[in-house]
Amino acid sequence: MNWYELRSEEVEKKVNTSLSNGLTEQEVKQRQKQFGYNELKEAERPSALLLFLAQFKDFMVIVLLAATLISGLLGEYIDAIAIMAIVLINGFLGFFQERKAEKSLQALKELSAPQVHALRNNEWTRIPSKELVVGDIIKFSSGDRIGADVRLIDVKSLEIEESALTGESVPVAKHVSPIDQGEISLGDQENMAFMGTMVTRGSGVGVVVGTGMNTAMGQIAELLQSAESMMTPLQRRLEQLGKILISVALVLTLLVVVVGVINGHDLYNMFLAGVSLAVAAIPEGLPAIVTVALSLGVQRMIKKNAIVRRLPAVETLGCASVICSDKTGTMTQNKMTVTHLWSGGKTWTVSGTGYDLKGSFFAGEKEIQPTDDKSLQQLLTFGVLCNNAVLKRNDDEIVVDGDPTEGALVVSGIKAGITKDFLTNQFEIIEEFPFDSGRKMMSVIVKDKTGNQFVITKGAPDVLLGVSESVLWNNKQQPLSEEYKNKIKDAIEDLASNALRTIAVSFKPIRQNQRISNERDAECDLTFIGIQGMIDPPRPEVKAAVKECKDAGIKTIMITGDHLITAKAIATQLGILPPGGKVLDGNTLSKMEVDELEEIVDDVYVYARVSPEHKLKIVKALQSKGHIVAMTGDGVNDAPAIKASDIGIAMGITGTDVAKEASSLVLLDDNFATIKSAIKEGRNIYENIRKFIRYLLASNVGEILVMLFAMILSLPLPLVPIQILWVNLVTDGLPAMALGLDQAEGNVMRRSPRHPKEGVFARGLGWKIVSRGFLIGIVTLAAFMIVYGRDPNNLGYAQTVAFATLVMAQLIHVFDCRSERSVFHRNPFQNMYLVWAVLSSVALMLVVIYYPPLQPIFHTYPIDPRDWLLIIGMSAIPTFLLAGALLTRSRSPKAA
Ligand code: ATP
Repeated sequence: MNWYELRSEEVEKKVNTSLSNGLTEQEVKQRQKQFGYNELKEAERPSALLLFLAQFKDFMVIVLLAATLISGLLGEYIDAIAIMAIVLINGFLGFFQERKAEKSLQALKELSAPQVHALRNNEWTRIPSKELVVGDIIKFSSGDRIGADVRLIDVKSLEIEESALTGESVPVAKHVSPIDQGEISLGDQENMAFMGTMVTRGSGVGVVVGTGMNTAMGQIAELLQSAESMMTPLQRRLEQLGKILISVALVLTLLVVVVGVINGHDLYNMFLAGVSLAVAAIPEGLPAIVTVALSLGVQRMIKKNAIVRRLPAVETLGCASVICSDKTGTMTQNKMTVTHLWSGGKTWTVSGTGYDLKGSFFAGEKEIQPTDDKSLQQLLTFGVLCNNAVLKRNDDEIVVDGDPTEGALVVSGIKAGITKDFLTNQFEIIEEFPFDSGRKMMSVIVKDKTGNQFVITKGAPDVLLGVSESVLWNNKQQPLSEEYKNKIKDAIEDLASNALRTIAVSFKPIRQNQRISNERDAECDLTFIGIQGMIDPPRPEVKAAVKECKDAGIKTIMITGDHLITAKAIATQLGILPPGGKVLDGNTLSKMEVDELEEIVDDVYVYARVSPEHKLKIVKALQSKGHIVAMTGDGVNDAPAIKASDIGIAMGITGTDVAKEASSLVLLDDNFATIKSAIKEGRNIYENIRKFIRYLLASNVGEILVMLFAMILSLPLPLVPIQILWVNLVTDGLPAMALGLDQAEGNVMRRSPRHPKEGVFARGLGWKIVSRGFLIGIVTLAAFMIVYGRDPNNLGYAQTVAFATLVMAQLIHVFDCRSERSVFHRNPFQNMYLVWAVLSSVALMLVVIYYPPLQPIFHTYPIDPRDWLLIIGMSAIPTFLLAGALLTRSRSPKAA
């Protein structure tokens, strides 16, 4: 079907819809049932079985399985079966961890799934793009990605970039007339918009004529695969480190075996012990636990309204040293209310809060009728006419569908009795040049009942002043002399210094036979009418968030399209602009090169009247000064800066699809305070990962060293293979997972940001691992030697004591890992997951030691209660000895 050949009424009939009302829910349900969801098929994920089998592909695990098989064949059935069981359980755990990681990544993807504006039951609603069916009416505007294939029925300066389909990156101007040229290529179908292409300018409405695999995109789409690497820098570093750790573990294990054999141990026993040790000591589970910790952190971020689109961002968040944030809607509430109006030297105020429709007009103290003053009436009328916002009632509240700035103008109009319904009866809008934050203006061409046409432009007052030739003063049109200009500038500054956002209105009549086809011709030679000033109160939580960021060594910079004085007033209120801090405006910024900006960038706290392209310059200057930059944005033009920054942040409510796609973090509530929470969480996740790396590796070092020292000292094996494997599974597994759920340390937002190139073992972690691991090994060996020395005929009992000491030493040490400082700095009961993990490990250990049927399997003997004193005493040493030493050192004046 060539939809582009049909007229819109024919399309309406063919797809059985109503262009004015859209489909009903019932029709939608039925079509979804019949034709399925609007989705492109994705490549199938590996099956559960494959994922499970992948857990055993590790070289050492295969060696262990082979060794077990041999021992089974040699008649050691119990050992063989027990080892198999442990390997299997380990495999299951790995499998579940990976599944969980994968599922949460998938859930994340669904959370950031695109939405579209569709007309259903005669009402515009936002729905997930996946729910579109043929016959739906959808609308879109600059920055949106088209959700399905549509035949356009209404366009306003619509341009669409279709490179995803055609390879052509120059946007195509769209129209609605049928094209009667037989078969034409996609790129020439100018009255169509295709799934996956991007609106770069203007807006449009269309009827869905193809969904899912029945779209142009569906036909060319290979099975979609996300090519993007989701690995974080730390994961990559750990992968490299893993290889080194494996080699080290293997060399040490080999050493244990060789020394053991030289000192007279049985080769077969040493082989099995060696392989078990290698399996235990190789931190093969580390990458999976890191992914789980990352994705758990990501889940916590979602609860705080931050959606991570790219996992690596979680880590980078913890390194952020500068946040560049938009003002409107992010730092402020984006609930605008016009409070002041100015025209021809006169000022009025308007009462009322929020979008409440009740309010009166005052000249000084005196209430007035706004319709009595012609210029005031015109200011209000034109504000409503050049406007796309619609007010809606949501329960008891009035909400704005559209731009809140425009919503405020609609409300100020209604307060004066000027409604959009009334005006659309009087005037026909025949052309619109949409607002963009580069021009900072929007214009419409309207025709009144007598056929007269004129341009109405509204926008930033200083910009409008530049394109106006005359001014309405005392209801008379006057040439815009320097004197008038200065008076208007004073008025703008006066309003802005009260932290008001200002919008001016201008107009011009269009002469007969004058043709205006672009915004340049429209937005010139205007007559300046007046200014509306609106408040946009700061979000209450932002001031504290800015302060918290400051304490965390993170600078907050405000970037706004608003007037410099407005921005300055709000930045001061929020504690962003310190005394002596610099404020820069877009004009100055345009004239600067990046290296000039670099020189002063550290002193600038507010950028005002900027255009989106300035943001890129700011990011670059900050980055070349070594900063890790978080940058927010919402529009199409913000995308390059979002991409270039280290952490691109898009607004979830007001953000366009393009901005969201470019970002690595989406704020569901558009709130600056959410960025702070995400950074805090980012720091915490990284710290948690450090915590369990520390725990796991120190445990492994302890396990290897106890065996190595025993072999060097010509002692018998202090642990049997199955005990080593048990420690690896239970003691190392559960508490490490619980560390991933740990809360942030109290001082996490009182430290400077982490350096992004910081190594895994930085800040003393390597030393902590080696020293604690060494001590764990020593105390285990000491306990073994004491008991073995007491009764050399009872090796099994001494091994059981060594086993219990190793387990207990690790379980006590896990609490030390929770703090970068020492075990005394944190309340152990704060993380109840950890307490339960430790208690279950202890319980499982007791079962293995005291439950008779398990004793032959684990080669254990019931421990005499008196020996528990020895075990507990020994196992507390690694944690408390060092912590105590550290504490005294940090209290001694010399160390301070
Ligand atoms: P930010 O979100 O970055 O803080 P902003 O939203 O205030 O900035 P813009 O939307 O670019 O920045 O607005 C810049 C200026 O353009 C405003 O101060 C206002 O004067 C004018 N303006 C804003 N919205 C509109 C609109 N819908 N129509 C006409 N002019 C507008």
